[in-house]
Amino acid sequence: MASDIALGVDVGGTKSLAVLMSRTGEVLEEVTTPTPHDPSRGAGEAMAEVLATQIRELTSRHGSDPATVPIGIGVPGLVRRDGSLAYAPNLQSASGADLPAALAERLGNHSVHVENDGNCAALAEFAWGAARGIDDFVMVTLGTGIGGGLVANGQLVRGRSGFAGEIGHMVVEARGAPCHCGGYGCWERYASGSGLGRLASLAAAEGRLPTLSVRAGAPELVRAEHVTAGAAEGLAEALALLDEVAWWLALGISNLAAIMDAGHFVIGGGLSVAADFMVPSATTYLADLVEGYPMRPPFTLVPSAFGVRAGALGAAVVAFERAG
Ligand SMILES: [Zn+2]
Repeated sequence: MASDIALGVDVGGTKSLAVLMSRTGEVLEEVTTPTPHDPSRGAGEAMAEVLATQIRELTSRHGSDPATVPIGIGVPGLVRRDGSLAYAPNLQSASGADLPAALAERLGNHSVHVENDGNCAALAEFAWGAARGIDDFVMVTLGTGIGGGLVANGQLVRGRSGFAGEIGHMVVEARGAPCHCGGYGCWERYASGSGLGRLASLAAAEGRLPTLSVRAGAPELVRAEHVTAGAAEGLAEALALLDEVAWWLALGISNLAAIMDAGHFVIGGGLSVAADFMVPSATTYLADLVEGYPMRPPFTLVPSAFGVRAGALGAAVVAFERAG
C-alpha cells in the first residue's frame, strides 16, 4: 500500500534539513543539522550517520517506522539515474557516496531515493507550490551558486545520465570569471549569492559603492550582504548593482527560454531577498534579450512558495513518486 507519509532531506553545503511530509504537502515534522565534512572517512559515511539520526528522530516523533517510510534525499551535485552521487563540488567528502546502501545498512530501509537538489525543488513547486498546473517551467535556485530543475511537458528533464538542469554552469560570458567547476563565465559567477559578492567587490574596487565601502570598512570588505542590506533601505548604489545582477539573471533566463520555450520561472534559494529587487528589472530586460519576445505569451518570474525548504519538500515528492 502506498505510504501516506514520506521523508525528504536536503543536504546542503552547510546544513541538512529533514522534513516528514504528508502526501498533501503538509510538513509534519522537521529538523536541521550541520552537514558533516569528514574526508578521513569513506565517501559519505559521516553524512549517512547524520541522515540516519535525523530520520530516526523524525519518525520517532511521529511514531512511525524508520525502516518503512519512503525517503528522498536531495544533494547538490551530479546524481546518476541509479541514485549514486557522481560529483558534488560543494560536498567533496560525499562524492561517489552510495547513500541508499549506507542507509539500508543503518535503518533497514530499502526505499531511499537520491536526486539533485535543484530537481527536488522543481518537483516541490510542481506538486504543491508556485508551478502547480504548469507543465513547462524552470526552477532557478539562487544560493551560493545557481541550481535548477527543468520541467517540460509535465516531466522533469533528467537527461542521459540524470545530470540535466545544471543551469548554473551555463556559460553566459565567453572566457569570463573562473568557476569552481573548472570552467569560465558560468552563470552562477554572475547571478548567484557568490556572483553578487564577486560583482560587489569589483564595483567597490572601481569606486561605484562609496557608501557601502565606508560601512564595510574598506572597498575590499564589501560583501553581498552589504548590498542586499543597502538595497533594503533604498540606497541607490546598492540598487544599481542589483540591477546589474538582474541583467545577468535575465540573460540566463533568456537562454533557458530559447532552449526550453518555458515562460514560467520560479526563483528560489537563499538570495531570494535580493531577488525581490531583481525580478522586476529582470522581467523588463527579457523584452530585449528573448528572441521573438512580442510573439510569445507573457513571461512570469515568481518567488518559490517554499523558499530554502523547497529542496527538502521536493525530496519527499521524489520519495512518494518512486515508492509508488
Ligand atoms: Zn561552472
